[in-house]
Amino acid sequence: MPDDASPRPTQPRREREVARWDLDADVVVVGLGCAGACAAVEAAEAGARVLVLEQAAAGGGTSALSGGLIYLGGGTPVQKACGYDDTPEEMFKFLLYGSGPGADEPKVRLYCERSVEHFHWLEAHGVPFKRSFYPEPSMEAPTDDCLVFCGGEDTHPYNTIARPAPRGHKPQAPRAAGGFLMQRLLAAVERAGARLECDIGARTLVLDGTDRVAGLIALRDGQEQAVRARRGVVLSAGGFILDAEMVAQHCPALARCGWKLSSGHDDGTALRMGLGAGAAAIHMDAGEVALGLTPPRRLVRGVLVNGQGQRFINEDAYYGRIAQASIYRQGGEMYWIHDDDTYEVNDLGMEASWVADSIAELEREVGLPDGALQATLELYNRHAARAVDPLFHKGAQFLKPLDRPPFGCIDLRAQTRDYATFTLGGLRTRPGGEVLTADADPIPGLFAAGRTASGLAAFGYSSGISLGDGSFFGRLAGRSAARG
Ligand SMILES: Cc1cc2nc3c(=O)[nH]c(=O)nc-3n(C[C@H](O)[C@H](O)[C@H](O)COP(=O)(O)OP(=O)(O)OC[C@H]3O[C@@H](n4cnc5c(N)ncnc54)[C@H](O)[C@@H]3O)c2cc1C
Repeated sequence: MPDDASPRPTQPRREREVARWDLDADVVVVGLGCAGACAAVEAAEAGARVLVLEQAAAGGGTSALSGGLIYLGGGTPVQKACGYDDTPEEMFKFLLYGSGPGADEPKVRLYCERSVEHFHWLEAHGVPFKRSFYPEPSMEAPTDDCLVFCGGEDTHPYNTIARPAPRGHKPQAPRAAGGFLMQRLLAAVERAGARLECDIGARTLVLDGTDRVAGLIALRDGQEQAVRARRGVVLSAGGFILDAEMVAQHCPALARCGWKLSSGHDDGTALRMGLGAGAAAIHMDAGEVALGLTPPRRLVRGVLVNGQGQRFINEDAYYGRIAQASIYRQGGEMYWIHDDDTYEVNDLGMEASWVADSIAELEREVGLPDGALQATLELYNRHAARAVDPLFHKGAQFLKPLDRPPFGCIDLRAQTRDYATFTLGGLRTRPGGEVLTADADPIPGLFAAGRTASGLAAFGYSSGISLGDGSFFGRLAGRSAARG
């Protein structure tokens, strides 16, 4: 099925059908999360009269619920202060590979080249970053510290592709950094002079006689409002993880995930508005998937196996990569095997689901194929005794034979754990935010950013990419829209 075959594109209205415009602006931004806020600030700073429409009672969106981690690098002041020597080229090598297959090379290139500039833009707009490193990888620090490894940069295969550097930047707030980030960005929107209307949801685009986007129809209290956009509309209303029909059609594996990461409005409305106006949607199968495994990293000393009792990934990989591999390629079947030495009650509250005195017995109890787990452990232990992992290249510091009974297994199947997810596919755009048709022609007057658009992550994901590309490409979309 082609990527842009949406079940329900929303047919646009014609301008001649609009009796009168109820609201009027140069640039109309739909949705006030990180992408919409940055679009609004840039468009207003470029001199446009900006109107932001937000379906919820206030701005913030899923961005405000997030951990606040922003993927930035190439030599930011935080990286430098913490002694990490990063360059745009090393960042590019990692991100192009780590965001693929099929990552948009010009977008990745631009993002890496301008990442330091984006860091300064964020600080100039009220988002501070402490010059500090937090050593626990993959998740935002529980303190107000900033920098973390957040995409498995220092693990196989990425450590063979680019020089590892930590690039997760958390704004300086002890907790609820996403809320803090949005509080600062919403203040910047207000300072820039953009007008905000809440409790109003965009529903369909309006095209003029030349098929240029002239505005949109929104709903407020059940009443239609015609909103004129003299220069452009920016769609920044999140993704489609809450639309079960679209998920079933495009990314059915994500239906296995019990925790949909959303503020409650990621229903694909804006995406379908774009499709109705002739836009293409790409990478619609892609989704971010997470299961908190890596912190604390001592968990990596065990082995992860699938429903066949076989390893399928290096256990020190970024936890999003592990969860994605489990959900997409292993049918959500994943078990963590440990021996007495490697088992420590961890702060994620995961107790052993099965315990046995031998691997053969454990294999039977879990219901894995006869001999499969025994073969996996025999091979793993043989090589781990020499601190090597020739199959998946887990770091030597994490390798130790699992040979001290009792042995245990933690059930990590999707049917027993809530995997967290959101969609990564969306409207096809140029780096400047112009929404494109399947023939790569821009639709005049239409721009998109954030999870409404397909951004950096074509499939692979690193923590911080969504706020990173949402804020950065949101800015560019706002600038482009202001130019008209
Ligand atoms: C617990 C959690 C932790 C996370 N941690 C991180 C992290 O650390 N780093 C990271 O990069 N990502 C993280 N994410 C993911 C990230 O928060 C989102 O992918 C990102 O915020 C999406 O930004 P956005 O601007 O595209 O959408 P949003 O922030 O959701 O903004 C979209 C806005 O549009 C509004 N809207 C929707 N439909 C309409 C409509 N029809 N008309 C008008 N308005 C509409 C919504 O109400 C919303 O306010 C996390 C998510 C969660 C839930």
